[in-house]
Amino acid sequence: MTLTRASTTMDRTDANNARLERKARLSWRRADAARRARPGLRGLGILCTALILLGSAPASAKPPRLTLLIVVDALGSDLLLRSKPRLKGGLARLIAEGAYYPTARYEYAKTDTASGHSTVATGANPWRHGIVGNQLVDRSTGKLIPIFADPDHPLLEAPPSSGDVSPRNLIAETISDRLRLATQGRGKSVAISAKARAAIPLAGRLGQAWWFNDTVGKFVTGTFYAKEFPAWVRTFNNRQLPQSYFNKQWTLSLPPTEYLGDDDRQYESDWNALGRTFPHPLNAGLSSPGEQSFSILKCSPYMSDILVELGKAAIVGEELGKDQIPDLLSVSISSIDFIFHQFGPYSWEMQDAMIKLDKSVGELIAAAEKAAGGKHNLLVVLTADHGGAAIPEEWAAAGMPSVRLSAAHFQDGLSKQLQARFGADLVAGVQLVEVYLKDKTIIDKGLDGAVVRRAAATWLANQPEVLTAVARDDLFRDSEPSFGLDALRRSQFKERSGDVLFLLRPFVTLSDAKDGADHGSPYAYDSEVPVIFFGKGVRRGIFRQRMSPIDIAPSIASMLEIGNPAMVEGTARVEAFSTGD
Ligand SMILES: [Zn+2]
Repeated sequence: MTLTRASTTMDRTDANNARLERKARLSWRRADAARRARPGLRGLGILCTALILLGSAPASAKPPRLTLLIVVDALGSDLLLRSKPRLKGGLARLIAEGAYYPTARYEYAKTDTASGHSTVATGANPWRHGIVGNQLVDRSTGKLIPIFADPDHPLLEAPPSSGDVSPRNLIAETISDRLRLATQGRGKSVAISAKARAAIPLAGRLGQAWWFNDTVGKFVTGTFYAKEFPAWVRTFNNRQLPQSYFNKQWTLSLPPTEYLGDDDRQYESDWNALGRTFPHPLNAGLSSPGEQSFSILKCSPYMSDILVELGKAAIVGEELGKDQIPDLLSVSISSIDFIFHQFGPYSWEMQDAMIKLDKSVGELIAAAEKAAGGKHNLLVVLTADHGGAAIPEEWAAAGMPSVRLSAAHFQDGLSKQLQARFGADLVAGVQLVEVYLKDKTIIDKGLDGAVVRRAAATWLANQPEVLTAVARDDLFRDSEPSFGLDALRRSQFKERSGDVLFLLRPFVTLSDAKDGADHGSPYAYDSEVPVIFFGKGVRRGIFRQRMSPIDIAPSIASMLEIGNPAMVEGTARVEAFSTGD
């Protein structure tokens, strides 16, 4: 009952919010149009306005004209460190000339794409921004619901999708929203990715979000963000770059002797006929481009090149970096994650993808630098949303206590246990660190929910692969600091999270696939990522101190002099920036 009431109130609030958001977006669009229509005002006039708007910024410390935020999906700390000796392009340049934090750490339990991007964008952990993971479990049906699903805002010019389409569930303000508000809609913000759940949090409510849609083979957005395609996106889609890769193959950049290990490894995946060895065909066995060939294109480094091209089109189309009002271009590069899942972080495919990523990032930075009028007008930030574990069977073969377990393994065992004790089927679903129970059945049966949750936690805690398990009733009860509980607390958000939270032991992978690799734990291999600042005002060096990606948004906010996003938990990394200009 409580849950039903809460969600009704939530729906009403959401409807109000949606109305207000629509109004706000219209007003920002008018500001955008005004900015485009008055090119003559650029220069001194706009500079003065910007300085007044930006408060006490001294004339010598102007914010960078353009901020390029690059999130490389699944680029763990270890992966970048291992690849470093071979890098010569953009990644090498960021490391050599920037402030490089090799091992920043997400401090929450469920490290995945939606939560990671939302944390980077808001400067807060999931317990504040509400994006607890890629998907939620519907407690009555057991079905998975994408976290950015929103039936009220369908895709624009694409078949209806039950996938991610709008930021409605994002509670916190993002750095993109902050920029738009602080500049009264004149600072532009464009976020692009092959994944909706990456582009949406990076755009927040007030930026533009564009992501790749496998069904139509082009970049799309949701009606939350736009009612029609701007000319630059339409023109870009008309170039049909994704289609142009259909008859191509993914080939190695270096001679085979340069790659470590074997190309063909037992637990690599052969998803959609991509094959396990080089060269990889990109046609998915089809006779013409279609959904499967578009899916495997995302699992090749060439999708990064397409994103770089889209980034360049955004720079030109939205005139990013052209005047003194700061703009934000956020690019989430998804291919590394898809390649990681299919082939694992030690594969030839990953080694080759890193060499190609290095080039793509170099090209993106060069385009941003040109747009901003030089490095002194540009801020680049590079990070990742999470890292990733090795293929569990390979870790086991190397002698680590590693095992692959399915969610069904825990769901079946727990269901039997609760059935025996309470006489009902009570488990709705098991996610990475969460068990969702059937709340309606608990009420219908007259059971005490807390008793059921604690019984489930006790059973889970006794499983040999489980490190710790706790009923949500007890999550905040114990005030003793504890690695497991602290991480689980930061991952939990009201009724969106599971009824029981649990952590597997290190090297245990929860995966429903038979092969490939996964992520989602709080352990270093999943939670540690690089953070690099580069460009205007940045002190070069390697910074080995403790750092969390929640510090990224406040660092950018500090450089742009726009104030912090509303629910920020992190702090600006002052050691990475020089004072003045
Ligand atoms: Zn990811």
